[in-house]
Amino acid sequence: MNSKNPYTQCAYCDGATCYPHANLNDALPSIEKAPAACPMRLYSDVIRNGITNYQMPNIQEFARQASIQESQCYEFDGPDLKTRVPRIEETIQFAAKCNYTTLGLAFCIGLRKEARQISRIFEAKGFDVASVCCKVGRTPKESIGLKGEEKIRGPEAMESMCNPIAQAELLNQQKVDLAVMLGLCVGHDTLFLKYCKVPCTILAVKDRVLGHNPLAAIYLSDSPYYGRLKKSSKRRKPETGWKKIDIMAENESGDSA
Ligand code: SF4
Repeated sequence: MNSKNPYTQCAYCDGATCYPHANLNDALPSIEKAPAACPMRLYSDVIRNGITNYQMPNIQEFARQASIQESQCYEFDGPDLKTRVPRIEETIQFAAKCNYTTLGLAFCIGLRKEARQISRIFEAKGFDVASVCCKVGRTPKESIGLKGEEKIRGPEAMESMCNPIAQAELLNQQKVDLAVMLGLCVGHDTLFLKYCKVPCTILAVKDRVLGHNPLAAIYLSDSPYYGRLKKSSKRRKPETGWKKIDIMAENESGDSA
């Protein structure tokens, strides 16, 4: 939170002001009707400046195709909205709209069977596919400072670290048109996104417990199973003596420039 504004809180709003049920030429609800923590009220300058990016022809065309793809994933039949296209087909259709021919697949070794099927599906739809597993490089976890007891199978095991930076750089090097992430772990996905220099989308995220469907825990959070998620904890404060890890820092010490 900065000194001027509270944090934006769209999550607690029904969206009636930014996404009103209206026809094209209807008067729209006043912004003042939106909650006080609405970004349209707090940060109108950020929204106004950000929108200028869509004036760049490549960005505008990409955004236009993404919105066309979005609408093609539904069937609007009078009052009813039906869904039509699962994400794998959405990805294939969108890549074709962008005139992409080569897809990258950055996957977790735990999902190698799925990666094989997905690679075959992409190829069946006419794409060339470059796939890279997270363990590429077979670099031991000790090289990033893990102690024996911090590994999954204990001190004696040779465990290759997940290497999302190599995954990203290999897909960059091969100049794939679109990188597709499949099941990377939390944090490893963050590093992949930092180092990936080609357009990137996510087919699935990892959830080891819930069949890679993290929202299942949310849907069950009113039940005894995952009710613990909604039990209040104390507001988090930084731990004394711990340094915040800043992967966006420009220098080697990890300090912001
Ligand atoms: S942008 Fe404003 S109106 Fe829309 S969901 Fe966020 S707070 Fe609500």
